[in-house]
Amino acid sequence: MDGQLPWDSPNPALNWLPNCWAALHEVVMNDPENRLSADVCIMGAGPVGGSLACFLASAGVSTVVIDRAPLKPMEHPAFDGRAYAISAGSRRLLDESGLWARLPEAAQPIQEIRVSDGRVGQPASRLFLHFDHRELGAESGPFGWMVEARGLRVGLNAHLPSLPALRVFAPAVATVTRSVEGATVAIAGGPRIDCRLVVAAEGRQSPLREQAGIPVTRLPYGQTGMTFAVTHDLPHHGIAVEHFLPAGPFALLPMAPSADALAGGAPNVSAIVWTERSAVAERMMALDDARFAREAARRLGDHLGEIRLVGRRWSYPLSAMLAHRYVDTRLALAGDAAHGIHPIAGQGLNLGFQDAIALGDLIVSAVGAGEDPGAPALLARYQRARRGPNLAMLGMTDGLDRLFSSDSRVLRLARDLGIAAVHRTPPLKRLFMRRAMGV
Ligand SMILES: Cc1cc2nc3c(=O)[nH]c(=O)nc-3n(C[C@H](O)[C@H](O)[C@H](O)COP(=O)(O)OP(=O)(O)OC[C@H]3O[C@@H](n4cnc5c(N)ncnc54)[C@H](O)[C@@H]3O)c2cc1C
Repeated sequence: MDGQLPWDSPNPALNWLPNCWAALHEVVMNDPENRLSADVCIMGAGPVGGSLACFLASAGVSTVVIDRAPLKPMEHPAFDGRAYAISAGSRRLLDESGLWARLPEAAQPIQEIRVSDGRVGQPASRLFLHFDHRELGAESGPFGWMVEARGLRVGLNAHLPSLPALRVFAPAVATVTRSVEGATVAIAGGPRIDCRLVVAAEGRQSPLREQAGIPVTRLPYGQTGMTFAVTHDLPHHGIAVEHFLPAGPFALLPMAPSADALAGGAPNVSAIVWTERSAVAERMMALDDARFAREAARRLGDHLGEIRLVGRRWSYPLSAMLAHRYVDTRLALAGDAAHGIHPIAGQGLNLGFQDAIALGDLIVSAVGAGEDPGAPALLARYQRARRGPNLAMLGMTDGLDRLFSSDSRVLRLARDLGIAAVHRTPPLKRLFMRRAMGV
């Protein structure tokens, strides 16, 4: 080469610089310290992504989970009024991933469910459905368990760092590249992770779903869900109440008393999900606690005695959403990234947990058999297993909301007759009960 540099430059000495940078970059990126490999990378450590990560790692699948938010601040310091109804069918995910044992406080079993139809100030019509899990046989467990949202977060935060097969990055910003051969997740300022499957569990606004060009259908309800907790004079006996009002459903969900509530001498605690037309909800949210509690009591009735607000109030505009596909090259959507439903039946998170169980089982058996967990055939099986049930639940919750959120006399009569018919038809009633349990 006669000392000649291989590129044209007025100052050949400086032209070594970019090459040095490129070489350095290459060394950093190929540094085994800065490069990881895993079977699965999960984007989003919310309830669905976090639980799936624990489920996979507990079964020995090498897994990485990444969240853009820091995890610790997601634990609100005190009882925050939000709660999940975890169906019997979803509990398997929490048991097998070791999360159930990490919940900081006991979950409240839902022993009975009462469904009624009424108007504000006229708490319950006489025709109501009453489901008792004991009607399914002596060995049948409860319909589900009420778990404080904060409790699930505390459990996840304690369990995620304890699993040897799991690496957690949060807060972290990551870029994902996918191809038929494999996927790479590059964490800004951190390692590059080579994996065979990326799971998008990033919630409703999933960036990975958008990058993959997966279309979604959205269905706005014009309603807002207000969630909060109350203490009350009389015990709830583990009974959940769904009270259908013309503006939307009003659900009362029994909670186990938290240590704080017990210390404050208030052992009777319930969570409420109150749906209203958005304009009315805005006015309600602006009321002070005492007036807000009075409005809630007008809808609830007096069967629990006097109610008092505890913790803070939250409100969410409600809409349904459905991704047209759940999969793409080396990508699977799970939880709210794939679907969103009306909270009328408290099933939103349960659908996400069922996604995690279906995908988790497929991945564990593929990795155990030495097969590719991101193979197109596996992804197609996952989509076949979950799209139908999720679509059916979306249709059912949407239909229930439309049927019950109406003050038309004809509809009121039709649904009261429907409720009475279910009440008098034991096989139909048992079918409803099994659906509520998610089994
Ligand atoms: C009023 C109301 C009441 C409800 N009540 C119930 C109920 O009783 N029972 C029930 O089962 N469900 C209920 N739901 C539904 C439930 O809250 C959701 O289904 C559940 O939170 C979805 O969990 P997820 O993990 O899929 O998503 P999310 O909870 O949204 O979590 C997504 C995670 O991904 C992270 N993230 C986002 N973008 C990125 C990114 N680019 N990179 C990395 N991380 C990212 C976020 O920080 C977050 O931690 C209710 C919903 C509403 C609105």
